[in-house]
Amino acid sequence: MAITWSAPLANDRLLIAILAGALGGVLAGWWFGPAMVAWGWVGNLFLDALKMTILPLVVTAIISGVAPLGAAHTVGRTGIITGAFIIISTLVATTTGVFMAGIMEPGVGTSGLAAATPADLATADASIESLVRTVVSPNLVAAAGDGQILPIMLFALLLALALSASGARGQPVIDLAEGLNEALMRLIGWILYLSPIGIFALLAARFGALGGEGFWREITSVGRYVATVGAGLSIHFLTLGALLILAGTRPHDYALNFLRALVTAFGTGSSAATLPVAMDCAQQAGVRAAVVKFVLPLGTALNRNGTALYQATAAMFIAQVYAVDLSFAQQGVVIVTAALAGISTAGVPQHGIVTLVIVLTAVGLPAEGIGLIVAVDWFLDRCRTVINVWGNGVGAVLVDRLAGQIHKSGG
Ligand code: ASP
Repeated sequence: MAITWSAPLANDRLLIAILAGALGGVLAGWWFGPAMVAWGWVGNLFLDALKMTILPLVVTAIISGVAPLGAAHTVGRTGIITGAFIIISTLVATTTGVFMAGIMEPGVGTSGLAAATPADLATADASIESLVRTVVSPNLVAAAGDGQILPIMLFALLLALALSASGARGQPVIDLAEGLNEALMRLIGWILYLSPIGIFALLAARFGALGGEGFWREITSVGRYVATVGAGLSIHFLTLGALLILAGTRPHDYALNFLRALVTAFGTGSSAATLPVAMDCAQQAGVRAAVVKFVLPLGTALNRNGTALYQATAAMFIAQVYAVDLSFAQQGVVIVTAALAGISTAGVPQHGIVTLVIVLTAVGLPAEGIGLIVAVDWFLDRCRTVINVWGNGVGAVLVDRLAGQIHKSGG
């Protein structure tokens, strides 16, 4: 499968407009400061327009994506490859996070830093039971209202399998889902014309809340920590790119195809809100539609490489600040629990700092440590969301490759 830079001219222009919007938003917030906060509603309007498509998009994508995969065992294999990618890439991410904190030591010699945890963060329910139980919801309407993708996806997946098993009686429903999905992608294309102004407004309002000086003061207060997370995320971006080379795809071509989604992830801080854009980009890049429709919603529900990496680094940083010497085995626990915490994080802004409690609890670190990093979280959240979305984009290419090979070899 050759994936090349082949976006039509309209998308080319849109990409330039989005990049200009993002840069303009940061600069306007930087220069004009709090005056830009008044633009916030324009950004939220764009965000809401994207979010309004997520629920019907996920349901119709899963039904129309799973049905062509055919028999349950083919779906099962594609699911297993996707699941394996999610687990392995997340563990690589958390290992990178621990490793970077180990060599850059952002918290060593900073024991003077102290802060209180905001009460709402300290009370996060971190039990594994509560995490697993979020997969099945007794009330799909309530789950949809809460923006929980996972229970909706599970239901859509089971329904898709049941529809394929129903033969001719199920076919009209699959056709309906396919038609609806196509119309939704068109609708999303229209909404995306708003993205340059939407992303401008979101970034101008957020950066404007602090102004240039305030932003700099906030970032440098824990500058080494921000640099460590940034370095880890950059390395993981490249690691994922290297995986693309193994899959026979040129990383810079694919990254260019995916740039609209990456900028949207930075602008919105939400991988769920970015899902429609990511699906559009992956399809433009030539990933098979059935794979896009299966892997990207599943990845958006579960695969959070950037968040997991950030959580591993944050836990190590907090340990260093409190002068807690984590043993080799405890660092292993950070790697595994950060992967679990990343997977259980929702694709909404700044949920990762809530699920970070899971990692801290696992190695006995004080939850108050979150107070040290909460001020810069809005910024790091946007950076890690970019890597979350990139991870899913790369996953779609790899699954397309591997599932295609299995198919050819008669599986
Ligand atoms: N904002 C992230 C996302 O949407 C989640 C997080 O790390 O808070 O993927």
